[in-house]
Amino acid sequence: MVLEKLSDSLKNTLQKIAKSLFVDEKLINELVKDLQRALLQADVNVKLVFELTEKIKQRALNEEAPKGLTKKEQIINIVYDELVNFLGKEQHKIEIHQKPFKIMLVGLFGSGKTTSAGKLAKFYTKRGFKVALVGLDVHRPAAMEQIEQVGKGANVMVFSDKKIKDAVEIWEKYEKEANDFDVLIIDTSGRDALSKDLVLEIEEVNRKIQPNENILVISADIGQAAQKQAEQFHKSCGITGVIVSKMDGTARGGGALTACAVSGAPIKFIGIGEKIDDLEQFNPQGFVGRILGMGDLEALLEKAKEVIKVEEAEDLGKRFLKGEFNLIDLYEQMEAMSKMGPLSQLVEMIPGFGQLKLPKEMLQTQEGKLKKWKIAMNSFTKKELEDPEIVDSSRIERISKGSGIQTSEIRELLKQYRQSKKMVRMFKGSKGDMSKFMKKFGGRLPMGG
Ligand code: GDP
Ligand code: MG
Repeated sequence: MVLEKLSDSLKNTLQKIAKSLFVDEKLINELVKDLQRALLQADVNVKLVFELTEKIKQRALNEEAPKGLTKKEQIINIVYDELVNFLGKEQHKIEIHQKPFKIMLVGLFGSGKTTSAGKLAKFYTKRGFKVALVGLDVHRPAAMEQIEQVGKGANVMVFSDKKIKDAVEIWEKYEKEANDFDVLIIDTSGRDALSKDLVLEIEEVNRKIQPNENILVISADIGQAAQKQAEQFHKSCGITGVIVSKMDGTARGGGALTACAVSGAPIKFIGIGEKIDDLEQFNPQGFVGRILGMGDLEALLEKAKEVIKVEEAEDLGKRFLKGEFNLIDLYEQMEAMSKMGPLSQLVEMIPGFGQLKLPKEMLQTQEGKLKKWKIAMNSFTKKELEDPEIVDSSRIERISKGSGIQTSEIRELLKQYRQSKKMVRMFKGSKGDMSKFMKKFGGRLPMGG
């Protein structure tokens, strides 16, 4: 997963809180030290780390636990809360509100503009928009071939002309035709640094095209240096948001994300791989939920909508939110998951699965396990699927004989179901509000299942 190391350290830190016998100042100091260590390792700026942990410490020491929450739960809640604030608090979704909606990508060489352009084209195509790419990189020799390639991958129209050496000219040539599309993704040229001629070029293109979104693409591997870059681009080109690319390949992504958040440029997407589907809308609440192993239902449903019918996904979502959840849902969830992509990207979104803390090698075994669980479920009666609580030892024996799956595996399936159900219950009505979420938990912590 993205920021795996940071996630592991944070989960361990919270586990420590969850397992401690009582909360005192010593424990809180230890928590602060652990958090600092984890965040500094992810290249988060030292000053920011100290500000954040000081806030957490003061709140943990001075705030009363809200009614219904134990002190331990309150502390975990505070950590979640402050990390969400740290990453920009609210989600800044791009709303496609006019036609054509123009999204322009700017940034330095190799930051991932062209790749992200293709990912965005696919993203909006999947959501039913008619999308085209506009290739305005007149700087790099092979840029036009690359964008053609990317366009093929996303299965969209590409407007570009390698004979024209002026970005505005290319735009003028295709403007009329391009205006027929719902969404235009405009790729521009980069430089090694934000040079004067790059600023001039972007300004000119900006004035001519008047994009609805002017998005800076930043590579996560520059860590906290992202702050300066985002601020510079913001000052000279008026960016409206950021895509942080290459979150998959670096431990420094935490630095890049927090740096963008303090620069005031909202993060709209993150790139999580080289492939065309490796793009995610950025949502601080869901992101932190996942990093802490609490799941991210919204992202899961978003993904589900891409592969199963919208109504089905919404129905599943509604049942989730109502806290109705049985083995059939778990089965359907697993079915949908097999269509949605690699398990490694999905487990962390499912409440209760994120804490499994599965090492990469184990995910493979996990895929095998899901297959076995599905076979076992075929030997459940309808009643058992609807109400798995009635499945006692003798029923487990019967199911085992019928399906050829060992009783231990069936017990594990039931345990996983209970874990998922517990997490789903917490989400009931909470809509991501962690304090309500914690209350629903009824005194039990979401860690250490
Ligand atoms: P540009 O110069 O800004 O247009 O950058 P490109 O789109 O050409 O990307 C530069 C390199 O980064 C390419 O090799 C891409 O495959 C790679 N890249 C872009 N985004 C990601 C990402 O999210 N993850 C990974 N691992 N690689 C990426
Ligand atoms: Mg490029």
